[in-house]
Amino acid sequence: MTSIQTLFSSSNLHLSNASGTYVIFIDVSKEILLKIGSLGEMKFSKGYYIYIGSAFGPGGLVKRVERHLRNEKKLFWHIDYLLNSSSAKIIAVAWIADRQKLECIISQEIDKSSPLVKSLLHFGSSDCKCTSHLKQIKTKLRRDFYKVILSMIEPYDMIFEDFTNNLS
Ligand SMILES: [Zn+2]
Repeated sequence: MTSIQTLFSSSNLHLSNASGTYVIFIDVSKEILLKIGSLGEMKFSKGYYIYIGSAFGPGGLVKRVERHLRNEKKLFWHIDYLLNSSSAKIIAVAWIADRQKLECIISQEIDKSSPLVKSLLHFGSSDCKCTSHLKQIKTKLRRDFYKVILSMIEPYDMIFEDFTNNLS
């Protein structure tokens, strides 16, 4: 399991209570059918996904991403139901500590920017006007997945951490 220490390396410790926006990179290792809270049953095909969120409450980014990485928790957000599956794993995260709430801006930019992006309707967007905050990226290789997303979020100057080198 990836620890929060590896997520926020020493050079970034000053961000530890910071609020901001994040993108989590998810690998779904096989097709799964899950009940996603109020959305009901949804099918997730094998592949790569991103989820865009923001953390402006107490604890900020660290607490929020830590929560996403933790297995034991009450299922509350749509994303909790997906990450509760043993077939869905966070493999990387990008974040920016910024007072401006960027999650919807980034989400909508990503929708526009590539034919490889497929939104999962209404997922994570109950409180906003976005089509979805969860997107499947139609790439076969992990490095292509990273490349596509990192080029899209480049203007936001996010810090990117790949967990796959740390995972056993
Ligand atoms: Zn939104």
